[in-house]
Amino acid sequence: MIKPETKKEVNRIFSKYLDDHSLRKTRERFAMLDEVYSLNDHFDADSLFLQMKNKKHTISRATIYNTIDLLLNCDLITKHQFGKNLAKYEKSFEYKQHDHLICEDCSHIFEFCDPRLQQIQSMMGELLKFKVTHHSLNLYGKCTMLAGTGNCQYRK
Ligand SMILES: [Zn+2]
Ligand SMILES: [Zn+2]
Repeated sequence: MIKPETKKEVNRIFSKYLDDHSLRKTRERFAMLDEVYSLNDHFDADSLFLQMKNKKHTISRATIYNTIDLLLNCDLITKHQFGKNLAKYEKSFEYKQHDHLICEDCSHIFEFCDPRLQQIQSMMGELLKFKVTHHSLNLYGKCTMLAGTGNCQYRK
């Protein structure tokens, strides 16, 4: 569940961004921000579109794509490319830094957080006089098989 303070703050950031860029503050754009912040998983543009349609929002695919770009620009979501062509996104405000494990069979995405990666990041930055802004680490493989079935734990 999204905290009311978080919801207020992400709304404020997005609203300011739209103002600063003379973009329209439409109801659809804010409905989409709400939807994105209610999700606890990684999503792609089309699944978000279908999900919003199912909730009876009147929103076009074009608005979804266009708003995703705006949310990326104001750092409210992060974009991932998990091996396939399809781009995945997730909310990023107040969301802890993490990396991903992706199952190549069932496409399930696991998250992990290891402070050693932050240490490597700052150490390499210092060593090579490089201003590191962020990193991306994706580990690919197979998630644990269900005993005896040969199927992934998460295969639907
Ligand atoms: Zn799997
Ligand atoms: Zn993630």
